[in-house]
Amino acid sequence: MRQVLAGVLLLSLVVVFTGSASAPVAPVWQQSALQRNFDWRDPESYFDATRNTLNRSNITWTPVANLQATCESESRRRGNKGFGYPLQACSFWVGNQCDIFTNLRANMHTVGHEVLHCFQGNFHP
Ligand SMILES: [Zn+2]
Repeated sequence: MRQVLAGVLLLSLVVVFTGSASAPVAPVWQQSALQRNFDWRDPESYFDATRNTLNRSNITWTPVANLQATCESESRRRGNKGFGYPLQACSFWVGNQCDIFTNLRANMHTVGHEVLHCFQGNFHP
């Protein structure tokens, strides 16, 4: 359900390595008051909407019959290594271009999750 961006991954590693071993540091995606207790798996969980990296995105949404194969293929076509774990949807974003793939039957949580990737990039681990 995500495509790791090198810059975001590097930022996460910096936070992990500078954290104190005796005082647990909140994961980077939970480190603001508006983001506190955010659980990206919970569709009712609130997140910090000020973390958007852009406020306009050119989004395509393609429902497909074989989601897993499509996402793996799209990942490799874009120069990535594929996902290798079961997906409910996937999205790929570069700048303000964002392409979402879902099953033919989707739900609000899945679509909202992928749209959040369009605006906040790699917002979850
Ligand atoms: Zn995701």
